[in-house]
Amino acid sequence: MRQQLLEKHRLTKQHTQDYRRCLALNRNAAGFSPEMKELLYTLVCNRAEGAHLYDIDGNEYIDLTMGFGSILFGHNHRPLRKAIEEQLTKSWSVGPISPLAGKLAREISSATGAERVAFFNSGTEAVMVALRIAKATTKKKNIVFFKGAYHGTFDCFLSLKTDPVTHFAKEMVPGVTQSILNESYLLEYGSDESLEFIKKHKDDIAAVITEPVQSRNPGFQPRKYLHELRNITAENNIALIFDEVITGFRIGLGGAQDFFDVRADIVTYGKVIGGGLPIGIVAGKTQFLDATDGGYWQYGDNSIPSVKATFVAGTFCHHPLAMAASLKTLEILSRHDGKLLTDLNDATNAFCARLNCFFSSNGYQLSISHFASLFRFNTPGKLHLLYYQLLLNGVYVWEGRNCFLSSAHTPGILVMLEEKIQQSCQQMEEAGILTAKGVSIPYHQKENV
Ligand code: PMP
Repeated sequence: MRQQLLEKHRLTKQHTQDYRRCLALNRNAAGFSPEMKELLYTLVCNRAEGAHLYDIDGNEYIDLTMGFGSILFGHNHRPLRKAIEEQLTKSWSVGPISPLAGKLAREISSATGAERVAFFNSGTEAVMVALRIAKATTKKKNIVFFKGAYHGTFDCFLSLKTDPVTHFAKEMVPGVTQSILNESYLLEYGSDESLEFIKKHKDDIAAVITEPVQSRNPGFQPRKYLHELRNITAENNIALIFDEVITGFRIGLGGAQDFFDVRADIVTYGKVIGGGLPIGIVAGKTQFLDATDGGYWQYGDNSIPSVKATFVAGTFCHHPLAMAASLKTLEILSRHDGKLLTDLNDATNAFCARLNCFFSSNGYQLSISHFASLFRFNTPGKLHLLYYQLLLNGVYVWEGRNCFLSSAHTPGILVMLEEKIQQSCQQMEEAGILTAKGVSIPYHQKENV
């Protein structure tokens, strides 16, 4: 496999090496090990169309990365492209506000039930602002986040370890100091102890933030737990923040809030809604969003902003191209009562079920879990080599291993994809990497619902 990959990616490796001295790109060193270093490079692609990518070596791939989940209609989707091009001919300038911003805020509000909506440039930024307005509103300073979650690159989340005494996240990443983490409790997701901890520390906790379904563990869909979190936070003046950067506009138009029937105080969105352009959205209850601008007032009377606002800003917030792409995305998603998402999620469900059946009937120690159109292979031990075998067979999964299907993954492409996955397993079995144990692996999709 190794030699074949090296031949397949000769130009890609050359390119990576040529620019390494100048281009500082951590993805090209992610998970570095001396044994795997020759296979450590990111695909370099200059064309993408529908569900396919094309690299500079001239190889074609079925894309399972789909812009880290930001491309829901397929690459180079014509209606989206047209909307962006039309906006480009009018203006892509920032400074004044695009007339599209108010319209988009209204439409997001009506799709999600959020009372107010604010625009930023990335999920990281949205989550950062969500925490800030939660602290400003509750007048407390600590936050709770959960193990297994990913909330972007804001410093206060950059740890995977908890101090057993204080329960604060523990310094792990160079440059992220303990003093920053001393406002971030890092607790187990789904455990009753975490709920007890939150109750006990209610007086210093401003916010509990959660990915309702963690992208790294999509089979765990803790409906009851989310309701419990909602009750405890509501009773204790703690903001409940749903980070729906992945689940939002994917599980349905109303996101995980609708799916689980839980209303958070603040919700963050990104990815899908931007139609592939950079966006981060903070939405939610007036009580919290008012901390961004002081709240509602009107001309012609003596009303004034009644809330003391914190500070939020950004050169590229409300970027006209992102606003245009988002409006078009929402328009497409809203057609026929959100049928596109229902169909895509059903297709993903069926696809994952078929593959799980294939894995278990062959006795392979592999399985897939999914939520909406996101899925992950569960690849214990050496089975992570599956991703290299897939790459060799023309299937691209990025190094974070979250996989996404899009509406451009037609039934025909899904059949091809399934064949490539099955073929990859068989090749790994022949190479002695994957052994058929003859045991069925239990498939716990939707456990703990
Ligand atoms: N929250 C979640 C749940 C995410 O998955 C991500 C990114 N994958 C982020 C926040 C950060 O978003 P961005 O990469 O746009 O900063």
